[in-house]
Amino acid sequence: MKKLLSIPLALAMIWALGSCNQQPKKQTGMNEAINPANMDKNILPGNNFYEYVNGNWIKDHPVPPEYSSYGAFTVLYENNEKELKDLIDEISKKKDAPMGSIDQKIRDFFNSGMDTAQINAAGIKPIEPELQTIQNIKTKKELDAEIAKLHTMRVHPLFFFYAGADEKNSSMEIANLHQGGLGLPDVDYYLKDDAPIKKIREAYKQYIARLFELKGDSGKEAQKAANTVLDIETQLAKVSFTRLERRVPENNYNKMPLAQLEKISPDFDWSVYFAALGLKNPGDINVSQLRFFEGISKLMKEIPLSQWKTYLEWKMLDDAAPFLSEPFVEAQFDFFGKTLSGQQEMRPRWKRVLGVTSGNMGEALGKLYVEKYFPPESKKRMLELVENLRAAFAERIKKLDWMSEGTKEKALEKLEAITVKIGYPDKWRDYSALQIIPDNYFQNLVNASKFSFEYNLEKVGKPVDKSEWGMTPQTVNAYYNPSNNEIVFPAGILQPPFFNKDADDAVNYGAIGVVIGHEMTHGFDDQGRKYDKEGNMNDWWTKEDAERFAKKTAELAKEYDNYTLLDSLHVNGEMTMGENIADLGGLNISHDALMRALNGKTPKPIQGFTADQRFFLSYATIWRQSIRPKELAKRLKTDVHSPAEARVNIPPFNMDVFYKDFDIKAGEKLYIAPDDRVKIW
Ligand SMILES: [Zn+2]
Repeated sequence: MKKLLSIPLALAMIWALGSCNQQPKKQTGMNEAINPANMDKNILPGNNFYEYVNGNWIKDHPVPPEYSSYGAFTVLYENNEKELKDLIDEISKKKDAPMGSIDQKIRDFFNSGMDTAQINAAGIKPIEPELQTIQNIKTKKELDAEIAKLHTMRVHPLFFFYAGADEKNSSMEIANLHQGGLGLPDVDYYLKDDAPIKKIREAYKQYIARLFELKGDSGKEAQKAANTVLDIETQLAKVSFTRLERRVPENNYNKMPLAQLEKISPDFDWSVYFAALGLKNPGDINVSQLRFFEGISKLMKEIPLSQWKTYLEWKMLDDAAPFLSEPFVEAQFDFFGKTLSGQQEMRPRWKRVLGVTSGNMGEALGKLYVEKYFPPESKKRMLELVENLRAAFAERIKKLDWMSEGTKEKALEKLEAITVKIGYPDKWRDYSALQIIPDNYFQNLVNASKFSFEYNLEKVGKPVDKSEWGMTPQTVNAYYNPSNNEIVFPAGILQPPFFNKDADDAVNYGAIGVVIGHEMTHGFDDQGRKYDKEGNMNDWWTKEDAERFAKKTAELAKEYDNYTLLDSLHVNGEMTMGENIADLGGLNISHDALMRALNGKTPKPIQGFTADQRFFLSYATIWRQSIRPKELAKRLKTDVHSPAEARVNIPPFNMDVFYKDFDIKAGEKLYIAPDDRVKIW
């Protein structure tokens, strides 16, 4: 449920979206596309370009109580929420929607989630039968079968199972096993001993105990359960890959038949597990992190059954908490919202339920969303922009001074082969097998979980449906998928300030143009470059080219490592490397594309800014954001994207043209000497 689909589908997203604020939708006309009132002109661009462009906006927009961060993405997200809510309200007025129709399902899913009287009266009842089943487990075999059953309900003890493209045969779906089972955001939270982490760990333990108390345990029993859970999760953390290890695609690819999995992980009964999933013949399985699956086998042997049962109960409680009565919801918010992210208030219920409805019936709601809110001409304009970017990127590849001709040819072929998806899928998902009833939110969630699980499970051993989307149309985000070699831009992001049909070219190239370039560059970042034009993991580089590339990316990593936030915290240049390469590439490519679009002409300045200046101002604008210190500290540990401030204050300073545009001089804080500027793509 909550964490369910943090499943690593190898999607490199531009942005792991946080949250938003209530603001009326404002149509941004040409003259408002860059608003000088948002700038802080007391700051020199060379000292802090991010604040120069966004300083006043940030001062005027403190993070609202219900959020942990607030920025351009969140404003759009908020607008989308209102539009989706309007759609649901319209549907709810149609009393005659027949049972089984999409209207009925959306309406009843949402309304059952809003029925707090029913939900609060039920208390813990919805999960009692499953907790009882866990209590009744008598053998390790039964335990392994129960783990499978929980996975079909999207409760995730120990690890994740999913069907996904075979990374070396990208047209086929295979079974994948991926490490998991942790409640805290990262292994560091279990294994490091600095004061802030220890404090979080202690609060986590109290949160675990609180849920066991709500289940009916005595204070003493609950404390004991919390110790057991934290101990098991710490053991799991010790055998888990770190985020850096997970970044290396080839280390996460270990395809093997069931017999081999049984050999490396003998004390987990995989046959029982797969049979209970409903997958009698899993075929070849990608065991993403070998060390982890060897590790859990040992733990299966060492840890007594009674403790495993406590751990399974915990997973059930934690994953179900957001959908149970108020005390459960509040306990979870207290830890994940307040303690981890610094949120002061819970988001209003309608927004949370809307998020769940949209998450579970995403394309059903998305279809209605694009019919009403996505103008068809946007798709045409976007296609033009994408092709301009592709042409600009090709020119840049041809001119690279560090890459051999042979590798360039392959790179150009890969660029040419990138497929593009814009707005919404051509073929909509069929929800007819999903059952939604009027007055039982939890049952609806269980039904939706099983529906989604079955849908994914069905794919094992079948060809990949390349027309499918990994995001819903209403999502304010974009992605590159290396296995499909595709870039995808949902309708949700194709609005101002990203995409503004009334604004000048410079503003659009600085925003959505850079986003397009960013996604394209992902096909050529330190991870994406390991996949070929068909989306197969397959090395198409010469050794020398790969070495020169690695040297450049190491220089880029250093620039981010040296960037300080909150006085003493640093960006992790290696963890964020793929995104940083994509940001730098996106800016360079889109700037070239703008030059091509202007075709030697110099448009008159608008609001006193040249086209070039507006390009960079527009770029900085999409990243404006207010963020709470706790949230920033968490993201520095867990987010593969650099913080917004660094995304604005580093990449442009590697571009010569930027210095001229903003009169940046040696000695200013962000100045980089010409020879030290990193140029990759
Ligand atoms: Zn990205």
